[in-house]
This record gives sequence, C-alpha cells and structure tokens, in this order.
Amino acid sequence: MIGTTPKPFEEITDALKGYDKIAVIGCDGCAKVCMTGGSDQVAEMAEKLKKNGKSVLFAMSPERTCYVGKTKTSLDPQLDKLKEADALLVLGCGGAVQITRQVLENYGLTIPVKVGLDSVGHMDTLIMGELAIEQCQECGECILNETGGICPVTKCAKSLLNGPCGGAENGKCEVDSKRDCAWILIYNRMAALGELDKLRRFMEPKDYSKMAKPRRLNIKERKVE
Ligand code: SF4
Ligand code: SF4
Repeated sequence: MIGTTPKPFEEITDALKGYDKIAVIGCDGCAKVCMTGGSDQVAEMAEKLKKNGKSVLFAMSPERTCYVGKTKTSLDPQLDKLKEADALLVLGCGGAVQITRQVLENYGLTIPVKVGLDSVGHMDTLIMGELAIEQCQECGECILNETGGICPVTKCAKSLLNGPCGGAENGKCEVDSKRDCAWILIYNRMAALGELDKLRRFMEPKDYSKMAKPRRLNIKERKVE
C-alpha cells in the first residue's frame, strides 16, 4: 500500500484559503489502512472544516481513489454538487489526488484539488492499526531471489548489493542503531536456508535507469515503458 500521514490542519486550511464550498474525498484503500483518509477520517475532516467556517458539499471515500474507474463511479452521482464546489480536498496519496483531478477534468470541470496527506512510500502492513514498514522501492529489477527474500536496496541504509559495509554493531546498522543491519539479516536467512554459498556470487550494479520517473506500466504487454 501507499503509506500516508496527515498534513497539519493549519496547512490544509491554508491551502483552502479563499475557497468556501468544499468537497472532501478520501480513499477506502491504502489511506483507510493508514487511518488517514478512510470514511472515519473523512467524516472527521468534514466536521473540522465546518467548524472552521467552510461549507462541506459532500464527504465520501471511494473504495480506491487511485483507480480512475472507482473514483468516477463514486463521483458521478455527485456531479451537480461538484459543479458548485470551490475546491476539493483529497485525503489520499498523491496518486489519488491526481486521479481525482483527472476525473474532474474529464467532466469538463476546472476545480482546484488540494491534498490533505503526505505520501511516504510503498509500505507493507505489519500490525494492522499500528505499524507498516517500507519493504520495496520498486527498483524494476528485483534481486530478492539472491538475498533470501530480504531487500538490501530498501533495508540497507546504503543500499549495498554485495554484502555489509562492516560498520554494524551488535547486529544494528551503523547509520541508525535502532535498525537491524540488512546484511546480517540476509546472512542469517541464507544460513538458515543452507544457501550461504549463493552470497559469494557478485551482484552487478543495479540498472537505476529502470527507476527513471515517471514510469509507465503497459499492463497488456506486461512491461515498463
Ligand atoms: S530488489 Fe528490493 S527494491 Fe528492488 S524490486 Fe526487489 S524488493 Fe523492491
Ligand atoms: S550497517 Fe548494515 S544496513 Fe547499515 S549501511 Fe552497513 S551494511 Fe547497510
């Protein structure tokens, strides 16, 4: 999922300065899991905006606001209200904000779309309602087959591909002593699998051009363009 954190309310009201009639759109996908933009947080935000003197035209949370089809289906019945809106506030990731803008443009509406959350990366939930961690940076050339299913690109502070830097102490990273050294985790995992010999294989430098943005995924042909 895409991890999100709430922007300070003052930053949101600043972004909405001069706009009175607001529609609030959340996301019942990732933002719901992060407890930043699901139906509950959308309702809370609508109340806060009202107390702040705004008129809230409607507040809703599509199932997944990053999916243009679902966002459009949710917004279609609200078209008359959308035409009255001075601005939309989206409690979703940056993708959800831009998809919402695109849906509005497809309706022929030029309405400011403001973001109420900060997107903080691809996260995987460890404990629901408590903790998610970054596991993957979508580098486009996955090496998990070589590293026991633990990603050094993401979990090593230096993204080293061929073993540890040598600075770890008591299993912790020299860059941040609260985090495990990724390469010690990898070593232990490979040892448990009886595959330590595989770590002797030299890993070629990654082709970071595969991370050049913006990437486009051709789903039909299953390739990145
Ligand atoms: S190597 Fe790491 S960053 Fe790259 S795709 Fe695999 S898990 Fe993601
Ligand atoms: S101590 Fe481990 S995780 Fe930290 S930078 Fe060095 S190899 Fe990477």
